[in-house]
Amino acid sequence: FVHQLADEQVPIDTLLASPLHPPARPGLPLPLALYGAERRNSRGVDLACQAEREPLFAALRSAAVPPVAEATPEQVAQAMQQLHAQCERWDAVPVTERAAVLRRAGDALESALPEFCGLLVREAHKVMADAVSEVRETVDFLRYYAAQAEQRLVPLTLPGPTGESNQLHLRGRGVFVCISPWNFPLAIFTGQVVAALVAGNPVAAKPAEQTPAVARRMVELLHQAGIPREVLQLLHGPGETVGAALVRDARCAGVAFTGSTQVAKLIQRSLAEKDGPIVPLIAETGGINAMVVDSTALPEQVVDAVVQSAFRSAGQRCSALRLLCVHDRIADGVLEMLGGAMHELVVGDTSVWATDVGPVIDAEAHEGIGRQLVRLDREARLIARTPVPEGLNGHYIAPVAYELQRIADVRQEIFGPVLHVVRWGGAEGPTLDALIQQINTLGYGLTLGVQTRIDGRAHQIAERARVGNVYVNRNMIGAVVGVQPFGGEGLSGTGPKAGGPHYLPRFCAEQTVTINT
Ligand code: GLU
Repeated sequence: FVHQLADEQVPIDTLLASPLHPPARPGLPLPLALYGAERRNSRGVDLACQAEREPLFAALRSAAVPPVAEATPEQVAQAMQQLHAQCERWDAVPVTERAAVLRRAGDALESALPEFCGLLVREAHKVMADAVSEVRETVDFLRYYAAQAEQRLVPLTLPGPTGESNQLHLRGRGVFVCISPWNFPLAIFTGQVVAALVAGNPVAAKPAEQTPAVARRMVELLHQAGIPREVLQLLHGPGETVGAALVRDARCAGVAFTGSTQVAKLIQRSLAEKDGPIVPLIAETGGINAMVVDSTALPEQVVDAVVQSAFRSAGQRCSALRLLCVHDRIADGVLEMLGGAMHELVVGDTSVWATDVGPVIDAEAHEGIGRQLVRLDREARLIARTPVPEGLNGHYIAPVAYELQRIADVRQEIFGPVLHVVRWGGAEGPTLDALIQQINTLGYGLTLGVQTRIDGRAHQIAERARVGNVYVNRNMIGAVVGVQPFGGEGLSGTGPKAGGPHYLPRFCAEQTVTINT
């Protein structure tokens, strides 16, 4: 503390009043207490008990991932035609009825949790704890958007002069094209689709080509819950062909996309070049997400948050930590502890409960990350690399951390378990102000972690940082639906935030009706 006081001039009262340990999460045995499976909506299976894990593993053993056929150009055109024909009818269904369908789907999905976990582990190579979290998040999306629709998509009566009534109505825009990624093949897929549907739009859904089976099963469940088949159609295939054809189609009235910044810009260009109306794009893309650690931070808490944020889900979250910025005064100690924690991580087969980190999604991802690692091995200082057992079957990348001289050396988002570290403060590093400026200059704006025990500092940083989600003294992944609305700005997306109160209205057209009474 003496050093910290000298360095940062923190009043001693501030330090003494701050908690010395991260809040405990009672009742969760390791590895759950550290690396996952927080209960999302307190309604699911309790994973703390081995007996209750058995149905999950039984479902995993029987999970089959059937092949799907790619949609032809004719099928795309036909689906858009059918969807377009449904616009008026679907928009005329009372919002309470559409919301009821979402709730039914939420209940059905909750009951089918083991089956969906099996699919997520098999098809998306998730570890079981991540699969459980994802199913729960999806249930949350279904229930949250049902409640939001009933609250927000109703006519609003506005004050006006005597003799006049004014009402604002929200309506479906028309056919929405929803293009979703493989990293949350259930939660993001479903979140986009049901938001568009409950807002009154027929939907053409194009899931990532790596994870079609999860999407197909979810669409089946939505149809069974009461979404008419003609109103929700699934079109499989690559973005370059099927996705592009859907976006270009004249009947596409809106696009919801989650994926890379580069593809979001291609979609934007394609929409701009079409004849006809101006078509809105809701895009949620990636980030070079930083965590700022000052010299008052608690090293144990920092390391726990870093390991979860950078390496959980094999780093395949757009919220994941990519750039750890640690104050020079505590950097050596934090990095040593981080190296120790990384050696404790279990990389392995996703059908084993104790596995913390599974493989990356496919050979292409493995190769791309591999190329970046060759460069980093040459240009940066290796801090630690988690050992990977021999003989694993899959595209494994060992969690790895490198120290760089400066933020400008971070070239791009690496979508895997790769952490960059830079130091700030001290004689040579940038000041806090300069650091935040440099982080902003990267141009992304999704998540930011802050670790400090200085009152007010977290707020100062949050005010200056151009990011969508700031997490203080905790990890920076796993935004909870309705609690931590999620999404960024700049190169990270257009907003609105998924799981937040402003999401649904963006899927709607607005109409003001003024009547002279
Ligand atoms: N919502 C997820 C989280 O907060 C990330 C979603 C994504 O990777 O696109 O971790």
